[in-house]
Amino acid sequence: MQPPIRRKGRRKGLPPKASSPGPKASKRKIRVDGLISVGQLAHELGVKAPVIIRKLMELGTMATVNELLDVETAAFIASDFEYEVENVGFTEDQFLQAVDAEEEEVGLTGRPPVVTIMGHVDHGKTTLLDALRSANVASGEAGGITQHIGAYQVELRGQPITFIDTPGHAAFTEMRARGASVTDIVVLVVAADDGVQAQTIEAINHAKSAGVPIVVAVNKIDRPGVNPDTIKHRLGEYELVPEEWGGSTMFVAVSALKRIGLDDLLEQILLQAEVLELRANAERFAEGIVIEARQVKGIGPVATVLVQKGTLNRGDNVVLGAAYGKVRTMTDHRGAKLKTAGPSMPVELSGLTALPLTGDRMVVVKTEKDARTLAEHRATEAREAGLKGTRRRNVEDLFAMAANSDKKILHVVIKADVGGSLEALRGALEAIHVEGTELRVLHAAVGDISESDVGLVAVNNGLLLGFNVKVDPRAKIAAEANSVAPETYRIIYDVLDRVKFVLSKMVDPTYEDVLQGTAEVRKVFLISKVGAIAGCFVKEGKVSRNNSVRLVRNNVVLWEGKLATLKRFKDDVREVTSGYECGIRLDGFDGIEDGDVLECFARQEVAGAVG
Ligand code: GDP
Repeated sequence: MQPPIRRKGRRKGLPPKASSPGPKASKRKIRVDGLISVGQLAHELGVKAPVIIRKLMELGTMATVNELLDVETAAFIASDFEYEVENVGFTEDQFLQAVDAEEEEVGLTGRPPVVTIMGHVDHGKTTLLDALRSANVASGEAGGITQHIGAYQVELRGQPITFIDTPGHAAFTEMRARGASVTDIVVLVVAADDGVQAQTIEAINHAKSAGVPIVVAVNKIDRPGVNPDTIKHRLGEYELVPEEWGGSTMFVAVSALKRIGLDDLLEQILLQAEVLELRANAERFAEGIVIEARQVKGIGPVATVLVQKGTLNRGDNVVLGAAYGKVRTMTDHRGAKLKTAGPSMPVELSGLTALPLTGDRMVVVKTEKDARTLAEHRATEAREAGLKGTRRRNVEDLFAMAANSDKKILHVVIKADVGGSLEALRGALEAIHVEGTELRVLHAAVGDISESDVGLVAVNNGLLLGFNVKVDPRAKIAAEANSVAPETYRIIYDVLDRVKFVLSKMVDPTYEDVLQGTAEVRKVFLISKVGAIAGCFVKEGKVSRNNSVRLVRNNVVLWEGKLATLKRFKDDVREVTSGYECGIRLDGFDGIEDGDVLECFARQEVAGAVG
């Protein structure tokens, strides 16, 4: 499921909100200035931090006390505690061009597919990218000096296709880790003379976890004695079954070196794109993603941006992550100067004040001042988050996790020293059964924990487990940057215990009511428009504002429900202990009488059962 898109207008497809009687008087408010840490939110809600951490975990995301939540996420959590969140901070929306969802649907037209090439090292990814670029440059412009800008477009019979010019899945995952998805189709290069290898499988798992379809290019078919069918058989084990065998994966035999089958490959990509029905609205302010950025002597920072929606014009005021500027020049990969760039078009632009990062989102705003304000705000926010060593979670993370809400899914990546232990571990993990949860192995391979493993866990949330392996140095850096904690083990049972523990923590907890205190009703006051307020005396234990209550009269339970208010004199209080008087109003019951006894219960959690 796609995460929800924030829009100002009414969301198309959603029913209009039922008319509500207005906010309840009892609804309490928290004021948040842009971001709030898990710990602070817990404090404001009057609960302990683990309660919030658990809530996030139930939604499938692991968070720490210091983790920063944005306003929407905080509001989502707070609503469960009957709190409202008010954003008193800076909101980006006031600078962004609101596009009404309906209006956008009207203007949709087809757009070219964006393709990333992946596969095992030395299987010919770079050679293929080079071959496609030089053989199929857009009509009329052949002979131009091609330059590397990070992405390029080729045409087949006038139909453009965009290729991301960084082969391999590191770039793909890095962008996804930053919340950016640019790839519509993955071309998986497999050398016919070498077959399916470790990174081939890694690439398949990355593409699958991103939900991106794969077109297989069986490369090096010019080599003597190779048989592409062997590869088809092997890939069948990974659910990539060719159409002629009843599957839906397109296979193309190519030689990147001898330039055989290239048009065939482009043809299959266009066919796959047709199935995907890729569309975008070109008639709006542009939005895009930074593919690459670099400093150029005498020009300053330049960035290659893939336009995803709308049309980017020279002179537009742009914000790219925490960088901004006014587009001075736009150049395509042949060095041609452009005035406009529409959806799926990669362009290198200059006129920026700072260097953006790969994966940063580009937006167009109305004025240069807006661009500066927005960029400066983001830079400050990033600095603050950096200082606290925290990563911010946003509501898209949560909804993406909660999408499959009937079962809580735990993603794991497993690395082990040898094939035997890998299979044993995988088998044992998949055999763990915890009611209401599902364990999904995103990737399992032999070898140390790598940067790519970290990336896969960072984008999906989950556990990164190593058995008798090390975490390689680049993975350590990436783990730090992405708040991923790789775990390494030497004993298989420790891994199993850990996974069981996490799964059991993820299931909806079962609660039992524990008696916390009793209060006796001494005098009932009927107040017009409010209802019955019972003046009570707490006889045993304590009474808390969020307790559930049973009203007992003559040893019979007459009513069960919640407290509406708990007061000492005129003040709302959180709890009242034995020996004190208090005023109680019940939520939805006014038939309370003198002499009634209120039994107050706290809900306590019973841990999920592990089988
Ligand atoms: P990458 O690591 O996947 O980017 O692989 P490269 O593109 O660098 O190619 C690795 C080696 O395979 C190079 O020596 C290429 O010349 C060679 N190679 C690539 N494609 C073909 C092909 O179609 N046929 C043959 N015979 N060799 C190829």
